[in-house]
Amino acid sequence: MSHVPTSIDFRANVRQVPSTMPVSVQKATTKFLGNRAALVDALGNDVWQALRQAGHDLRLHAIGNLDHYLEQAERQVIAAGGQVHWARDAEEARRIVLDIAGKHHTRLAVKSKSMITEEIGLNHAMEAAGIRVLETDLGEYIVQLKGMGPAHIVVPAFHLSTVEIAALFREKLGVDAPAEAQKLTQIARTKLREEFLAADLGISGGNFLVAETGTIVTVTNEGNGRMCCTVPPVHVAVVGIDKVVPDWESLTVLLKLLARSATGQKLSCYTQFISGPPRTDAETGPKEFHLVLLDNGRSRILQTPETRETLLCIRCGACLNICPVYNNVGGYAYGYPISGPTGVIFASQILGAKAAGALPFASTLCGACNDICPVKIPITDILLHLRRRVVEGDDVEGAAAPYTLRLGAQMGSVALSVTWLYVLGSKLLKRLQGPFVRDGWMANLPGPLSRWTMARPFPGFAADFRRWWRRRAGC
Ligand code: SF4
Repeated sequence: MSHVPTSIDFRANVRQVPSTMPVSVQKATTKFLGNRAALVDALGNDVWQALRQAGHDLRLHAIGNLDHYLEQAERQVIAAGGQVHWARDAEEARRIVLDIAGKHHTRLAVKSKSMITEEIGLNHAMEAAGIRVLETDLGEYIVQLKGMGPAHIVVPAFHLSTVEIAALFREKLGVDAPAEAQKLTQIARTKLREEFLAADLGISGGNFLVAETGTIVTVTNEGNGRMCCTVPPVHVAVVGIDKVVPDWESLTVLLKLLARSATGQKLSCYTQFISGPPRTDAETGPKEFHLVLLDNGRSRILQTPETRETLLCIRCGACLNICPVYNNVGGYAYGYPISGPTGVIFASQILGAKAAGALPFASTLCGACNDICPVKIPITDILLHLRRRVVEGDDVEGAAAPYTLRLGAQMGSVALSVTWLYVLGSKLLKRLQGPFVRDGWMANLPGPLSRWTMARPFPGFAADFRRWWRRRAGC
């Protein structure tokens, strides 16, 4: 279950992270990164880089021509017997899904893993309307039993050990559950099978939407996605408008990039293509197919050249796996279902700087995410732009940072750009620092500067940088 957050305090969330989190997270991310590296090696770096460039170019082309491809996709879905609904924002999307559920007297809905339904807080809205919503991806099923959201966009429960999951199953399902992965999976499978058969509605997201044929593509490693989209009498797919790709040729490039980057597989176990409801009595499957196309701020991102490439993301999770911040704090610290570098750039634009202004600063700017991203999103450039938006404001939003911080940043900028002020300031600071320096370091600084020294000491101002530079240059 998840609500749409209205305010994210990353610093406070980090303080809640259990001390065991970094070890559990790094155990899993190391494995994924190792698998990915082996497959990239097998392919050869030149081929991999060419694939990345192709992926980047075709995603950029798709979002640059969204109006054309979305209209094409809509025509094809309708021609195939499906129904298309356009949702401007999260509220409209929830209302559309609730209306469909209401028309079919839905009491139980089964869901496959989808970050977009987390984004709009769908589970919470449906449960408030008296509809039971069951997550059926094993990881999502586990975190739902725990009353939490996903800790990772690909593997939602990877931070939990089999011992913890067994205890959870014993408590919530009332079964004798040994701490063995295979037995735990069997228990979940048995429970879920009954629910699939009883469900009135199946809900999924969509990794891609192929405009050429109006086909929804879902990429999973468990059979649950297929069950959600085929067993209940009605299927609703909620898909972001950014997920459209022109044709099947583009799709093959993206599928090669996605599975390798996500879990280090050549192809995931299930890649499912859905093009409307059955067309003849001989075909089986849901009698109704609804596609909900969600904007929810994506058009605004598209209009901002500096951040537009946020929409290229194929949600592979590789940037989470490589990120030093994510590896130390895990997913929950971000306060948003999509975590890590991709979550940071997405959430701070979707939720706005006032609600999520802390997130662009949850990065070391080391650039590892740029290097690993299969569609070459310049994540750190986007982060820098979003930091500037929070502090100074831009065409999209006004500044959200406290006035004192903005004043400090402006004063710092003036001091660094006027030579005499810089020289005078550095001389003054050298004298003023006296009471705080021990062995060349300041362990405790006063006021807002203490936020730095809470984590690490600050080096004392040791010398006149300009004089040192002149000496070093030999002039
Ligand atoms: S930003 Fe790139 S690496 Fe991160 S999830 Fe998206 S596609 Fe994958």
